[in-house]
Amino acid sequence: MPAGHPLPQTGKQFPRTLGELRNSKYAQLVNRSIKDEMRENLIARLQLGDRIFPGIVGYDDTVVPQIVNAILSKQNFILLGLRGQAKTRLIRMLTTLLDTHAPYVDGCEIHDNPYRPICRRCRDLIAERGEETPIAYLTQEHRYVEKLATPDVTIADLIGDIDPIKAARGGHELASELTVHYGLLPRANRGIFAINELPDLAGKIQVGLFNIMQEGDVQIKGYPVRLPLDIALVFSANPEDYTARGKIITPLKDRIGSEIRTHYPATVEEGIAITSQEAWASRDGNKLAVPKYIREVIEQIAFAAREDKKIDKRSGVSQRLPISALENVISNAERRAIRHDEKVVVPRISDIYAALPAMTGKLELEYEGEMKGADFVGRELIRVAIGKTYDQYFQGANTQQVIQWFDLGGEIQVTDGAAAAEVLPTLRGIQGLMDKLTRVNVGPKDSPEAQVSAAEFVLEGLHAHKRIGRNEERVFAAGEKQPRMAEKPYEREEGQYRPRRPLN
Ligand SMILES: [Zn+2]
Repeated sequence: MPAGHPLPQTGKQFPRTLGELRNSKYAQLVNRSIKDEMRENLIARLQLGDRIFPGIVGYDDTVVPQIVNAILSKQNFILLGLRGQAKTRLIRMLTTLLDTHAPYVDGCEIHDNPYRPICRRCRDLIAERGEETPIAYLTQEHRYVEKLATPDVTIADLIGDIDPIKAARGGHELASELTVHYGLLPRANRGIFAINELPDLAGKIQVGLFNIMQEGDVQIKGYPVRLPLDIALVFSANPEDYTARGKIITPLKDRIGSEIRTHYPATVEEGIAITSQEAWASRDGNKLAVPKYIREVIEQIAFAAREDKKIDKRSGVSQRLPISALENVISNAERRAIRHDEKVVVPRISDIYAALPAMTGKLELEYEGEMKGADFVGRELIRVAIGKTYDQYFQGANTQQVIQWFDLGGEIQVTDGAAAAEVLPTLRGIQGLMDKLTRVNVGPKDSPEAQVSAAEFVLEGLHAHKRIGRNEERVFAAGEKQPRMAEKPYEREEGQYRPRRPLN
């Protein structure tokens, strides 16, 4: 029964009646509340040096220790964070701290603890059958209930309802538990109950929740019902909604043991680690080679978006943006490879532009952004991201020859659909271009796909810095002539990226 125990192969291992349970080695485990159970299993995991949340990147020194502390303290807690910060995922992983098998009175709607049944049915059953009362078991997954809070959630949904007609017909007292149609919360008894976006819950429902947490008593349609539930409550909320005055009733806030702030990845490297882990990239089909600079540009888009004034800071920019973007970037490259029968799939910068549909819906725009449109804002972010990434590889590189080639009238079209073999000869004709690619570890012996992608990255970088031009048809050409000193190379609106003097 302890956490992580393998499932029994046959039915004999676990006690099937109350009497067997009391005489088994599990007898004492059943006496624990869920919070004691989570605490004990957590301690066991900590002693083993286990990762408590495997696959969660970037929270080791921040969020994880705070969650661990809250569980050790046997608290209900809330995760405060913006969208796409793995809040729900973390909460779902809490089930790994539960026993693999939790005994309950067989047939009970609210999974009564056999030692301490709270419903009338089970109390009657145990009175009648005694030690022969049948026992069933809950797995970890069955002990998790999740609810997205919305303003229309009612007491009936959450806690339960009383059917007065049925009660009258049955001759029971109205307030007796037998006449209650249980809501989500009682059905989560002996488990973890997660409410996402807590501030969206109406004040009246928050009061009901508080009463259950505080006293185990609640009023349904004016009738008092006693429900001493054994539940670990975990909430999530947007931090601004949660702290806004009047959104959460004070006594409820007071009963939430810890407020734990989640956050976006602190570094591009961490972001890449998360995105690589979550994006669907290992596909059947042609060999895939995603250049590191492509991953970096995609991640930089999310970082740039999180700082951009045109994007709503309250909502944030989910990590799902780079994840979906990477998937579409790979798909666009895959499509090109299939069409031209290329052996290796190597994404290019143009594939990132083609992945705009994976990004625009994830940007909540402010007024200024809305005026310009999601597509425009998206393209601008991609350019900022390219500029930043380019600088990391090509700072100080002499690109004069390349720029000159265009200034002298050279033009080249590199569409996202063009076969590598088709554009490579022209790219090779641009003096001083291909030998720069050693900076991204690409040489003449690499596949044409890799060479074209890297060369296009250089051209896109020069374009991001307005050293060369590029039109909608993806034709690179000489840039607009501007007075050199007055011109500010591509500049984002609020710092971080420092415009530099023209390279070399
Ligand atoms: Zn029961």
